[in-house]
Amino acid sequence: ALFDQSMHERIAEKLKLEGDLRRAIGEGQLSLVFQPLYDLEPYRLSGFEALARWEHPERGHIRPDVFINLAEESGHIEALTGWVIDQAVGQLAAWRAAGLCAGPLDMHVNISGRDLGNAGLVPLVRETLLRHDLPASQLTLEITETTLMGKLSVALDALHALRKVGVKFSIDDFGTGYSSLAYLTTLPIDSLKIDRSFVMGMEKSAQNVEIVRAVVNLGRSLGKKIVAEGIETVEQLAAVKAMGVHVGQGYLLSRPIRADQVPALLGQSVAEPA
Ligand code: C2E
Ligand code: MG
Ligand code: MG
Repeated sequence: ALFDQSMHERIAEKLKLEGDLRRAIGEGQLSLVFQPLYDLEPYRLSGFEALARWEHPERGHIRPDVFINLAEESGHIEALTGWVIDQAVGQLAAWRAAGLCAGPLDMHVNISGRDLGNAGLVPLVRETLLRHDLPASQLTLEITETTLMGKLSVALDALHALRKVGVKFSIDDFGTGYSSLAYLTTLPIDSLKIDRSFVMGMEKSAQNVEIVRAVVNLGRSLGKKIVAEGIETVEQLAAVKAMGVHVGQGYLLSRPIRADQVPALLGQSVAEPA
């Protein structure tokens, strides 16, 4: 039998979850947490990455990679991305308006492959920035390397149009895909975010250290800002800083936090973890 009962159950369950997700977007089950990003030299808060959370009424916490995938497959990603961009931009604008930000902070939002092919993305981003009165340069869209390189033909127009709006781009999980080096020089990419598997693997293998060093050198010589994600130890922090990484993110620096925890963070002076 090619189609057995367990497959039937899996499909039924997936369809149910898709329906739940569609409702969740409208019913306030989704929320955002914000993970701080820090300039490493000198050490200072430089922005946040907005990360989506879904608290399912019966199943509890559902991992973002699971529901993002589901949203992509079921056609709900447009609504989800629109919601995330609106909330993240609105939140930063609110912190600014309350006088909590000493200087400009970047808000990073993850977008998925489908979003880049969606004709509505550019007007949506432009309209959201205008409505919240946030300068476009304070919004960075993160796209994973695999997605970007796999969707280049459909992504190019959106990338250039959004660049005209003034939005920045970062390549997420860099090092896990296959970037065309030629494209790295011509695409409107501002920063490369080194995948956390390399950062976390630095202690285990000298090869990972050399990969990180090579990415930093390549990126720097192309004029890109280099971000390291997944920094969990003071040794990793010291290593990426010594290599010339500009910006760090990871549990050592800060876990993702709720919006109501951000004002306290903005009000306090930062000390580098040591
Ligand atoms: P990502 O964009 O690479 O986000 C970084 C992930 O690494 C987050 O997981 C974050 O909580 C986690 N992380 C940060 N620092 C550390 C660390 O030091 N150690 C470890 N082990 N993990 C760390 P999260 O929130 O579970 O998100 C997973 C992925 O789901 C994200 O990876 C992103 O690709 C996707 N995602 C999350 N929110 C959204 C969204 O609103 N839209 C889209 N399209 N994708 C999203
Ligand atoms: Mg990201
Ligand atoms: Mg990443």
